[in-house]
Amino acid sequence: MATQQKVEIPIQGMDCAECTQHVRQAISTLPGVASVDVFLASEKAVVCFNPALASLQAIERAVESAGYAVRPLAAAQASAPLAAGFGRRILVLLGLVFGVVLFVAVVGEWLGFFEALTERVPWPVGLALVLIGGYPVFRDVARATLRRQVTSHTLMTLGAVAAMAVSEWATAAIVVFFMRVGDYAESFTTERARRAVKGLTAMAPQMARVERAGEEREVPAREVQVGETVIVRPGERIPVDGEVVSGHATVDQATITGESLPVEAGPGAKVFAATLASLGSLRIRVTHVGADTTFGRVVKMVEEAEAHRADVQRLADRFSAYYLPVVVGIAALTLGVGRDPLATAAVLVVACSCAFALATPIAMLASVGAGAKRGLLIKGGKYLELLARADVLLIDKTGTLTLGRPQITDILPLDGASPNDVLALAASAERYSEHPLAEAVRIAARERGLSLGEPQEFQAAPGRGIRARVNGAKVMVGNRRMVPIAYSLPVLDELETQGKTLLLVARDGQLVGVLAAADTLRPEVPAALDAVRALGVTHLELLTGDNEQTAAAIATRLGIDYRADLLPEDKIAVVKAYQARGRVVVMVGDGVNDAPALAQADVGIAMGAAGSDVAIEAGHMVLMREDWSLVPDAFRIARRTMGVVKLNIAFTAVYNLAGLSLAALGFLPPVLAAAAQSLPDLGILANSSRLLRQK
Ligand code: ADP
Ligand code: MG
Repeated sequence: MATQQKVEIPIQGMDCAECTQHVRQAISTLPGVASVDVFLASEKAVVCFNPALASLQAIERAVESAGYAVRPLAAAQASAPLAAGFGRRILVLLGLVFGVVLFVAVVGEWLGFFEALTERVPWPVGLALVLIGGYPVFRDVARATLRRQVTSHTLMTLGAVAAMAVSEWATAAIVVFFMRVGDYAESFTTERARRAVKGLTAMAPQMARVERAGEEREVPAREVQVGETVIVRPGERIPVDGEVVSGHATVDQATITGESLPVEAGPGAKVFAATLASLGSLRIRVTHVGADTTFGRVVKMVEEAEAHRADVQRLADRFSAYYLPVVVGIAALTLGVGRDPLATAAVLVVACSCAFALATPIAMLASVGAGAKRGLLIKGGKYLELLARADVLLIDKTGTLTLGRPQITDILPLDGASPNDVLALAASAERYSEHPLAEAVRIAARERGLSLGEPQEFQAAPGRGIRARVNGAKVMVGNRRMVPIAYSLPVLDELETQGKTLLLVARDGQLVGVLAAADTLRPEVPAALDAVRALGVTHLELLTGDNEQTAAAIATRLGIDYRADLLPEDKIAVVKAYQARGRVVVMVGDGVNDAPALAQADVGIAMGAAGSDVAIEAGHMVLMREDWSLVPDAFRIARRTMGVVKLNIAFTAVYNLAGLSLAALGFLPPVLAAAAQSLPDLGILANSSRLLRQK
């Protein structure tokens, strides 16, 4: 196997969505580079390359020659903003005043208020204005053209050149002016979207107070070791993931779960980095630090959500490349057939707007940030797009629809065994199973004070049950598939129709008893399912490994379809079958047992991930708290996002088509074309930034 090296390169100067594309192209064309992801929000590139063919230096050089700086974040943050911010503001102000004066002059002249004002400006002055004002843009376009790339500014530059070619200096100046205004507005919006993500990172404390050699010491949170003890005072954020050793506090976990109601934490409680302790101090034994904490993983996923781009974004990426030849074609026709150089210039000028291509990534970024804030982790725009189109919702039962904390309600001993014998045998065999049912059996045994045996040869059969050797006897606990012994008792049917799960307990091939377990439906489920239905998801179906009657009891209560007796692989098959029929499938499940089916679904939503390493990795979306109301929320965010994106596209298409037609027919003078092209850009940016304010 070829050895691949993966590096993260911090990049400065990407202030528009298109910039990431330039960086991606610059790196991916190097020999030996296997994959590149460029992130606008976290200002970095993640590159996989073969060190025999490529080098870090070569990659950094490529980034720099594309016009961006390779610089670590910390250093840049410390120095840049103040000085640059002030100088920039002055420049923007000067530019704005100049632009408004120019605009008023030109439009006023056109309307006949003043006469031939702009004609009195000598052409060298006009040329100088255009060149000075447009220098950064022209430089970027020239660079891109040399690399045979087309950017959104390529068209604008063509427009400005065309205007100058027909001696419309004022028009060229207006094009340049709005080009810069558009850039500025975009970098402003990018910065806001970026802050939504970065604000999240800032929630993790930088320092931690550790007990070392009998005394308290402040050390950087990253340097704390697993197993050490940290101390958190009231009003401080917890710097690590860990378990409370001593002390009591009220912990606000909103940073992770979005849940504003604080929880009480005392000895034995699990606490998470970036959550806020108040009303008491805690001593915490460290289990995870830095990037390994639940919070660290969340941040990483939000940061890297940009890698999973929506199809509509890919389309947008290629848009300018397709659009340019079309516009140039129309311009050529206008010149060739219409013999009208002014109209030709107007065509090139009015076509400049393609802001929707730029605004789409910002819309996605805004929604990922908004989701994270309320405890809904979205791993990429791709999943927002799919979720907005989804019409099938498949739901796991145990731990997802139900609380996943079943209780043993009935014990039916057979063949002269006592209830305690059956329970003790089952609990001993289930000793090391992670299944919620196993936990229920152990709790019931503990409550009765039974002493348990040590199981040997323990083996779990997913979707069926377990087998183990206890005191030399072969014990099996599970459903009918696990214990295929023919039996029929009216009382068992009775229990199943009540929605209870039966655990058959067998010893050496003999059925010795049956346990019945009941799990509670999560209280918020019915309302959440109604909301999802109201959003147009037509098909809701319960998928469970539990038996027919139990499944039917719950499904009828919720008014949804169901399939019972499914093994984990059967669940995957059900997902695939829907997909084969062209349906877009969402699956909600626990991230542990259902991970494969979640992965197969178009959008897998993993439930209850705070503190669970596997669950966070499992889904395409992750609910950081066990709350079904986040499911309709996810659908809503997805619909809104795609609504904004589609409106952007439709608006741009209609506007540009109208503008192009008018310009080609000679109804739109270049000056007006220049003014007209600038409006949709600003409108689209404003439309996308609505998503930043999502409640
Ligand atoms: P679900 O699909 O509802 O989440 P699972 O696939 O986890 O349920 O389990 C399906 C069925 O398999 C359970 O209802 C139970 O009958 C049986 N089973 C699974 N694991 C165990 C276990 N450790 N002990 C007893 N029964 C089990
Ligand atoms: Mg389950």
